[in-house]
Amino acid sequence: MRTLYLTNEHVQQMIAHVDSQLPLEACGLLAGRGSSVESVLVVTNQAQSPVRYVMDPIEQLHAFEWIESQGLDLLGIFHSHPMGPEMVSPTDIAEAAYDVVYVIVFRTDGKWRTRGFWIEDGSYEEVALQISQTSNQA
Ligand SMILES: [Zn+2]
Repeated sequence: MRTLYLTNEHVQQMIAHVDSQLPLEACGLLAGRGSSVESVLVVTNQAQSPVRYVMDPIEQLHAFEWIESQGLDLLGIFHSHPMGPEMVSPTDIAEAAYDVVYVIVFRTDGKWRTRGFWIEDGSYEEVALQISQTSNQA
């Protein structure tokens, strides 16, 4: 996948969640169809750490079940880097377990921004995040 399509509303949902969890890292899932995100699901960071995230396994399981029940696919996993870097970390690359877009929500100059990455076999490439202003009705 070279481009992931989201709406501004999805981005705002991710930012609202990661901002509310400061100074800790925060995480969640992006579900949708094809390469278009339709839902943002927040998941508790069980690690409760400013530099690491571990998705709460029960919440993650329930989120996966909900995604399947809606006929959607897991398209992405997002998490914040409150203190950087602006890209996937060596830990993110080492621990990547899904063929999905890894979205990093990072802060520069007090503003949250997003970048997407595809991680495979210990390396990564950037995935364009195409953010539209209109909501994306299924
Ligand atoms: Zn990370």
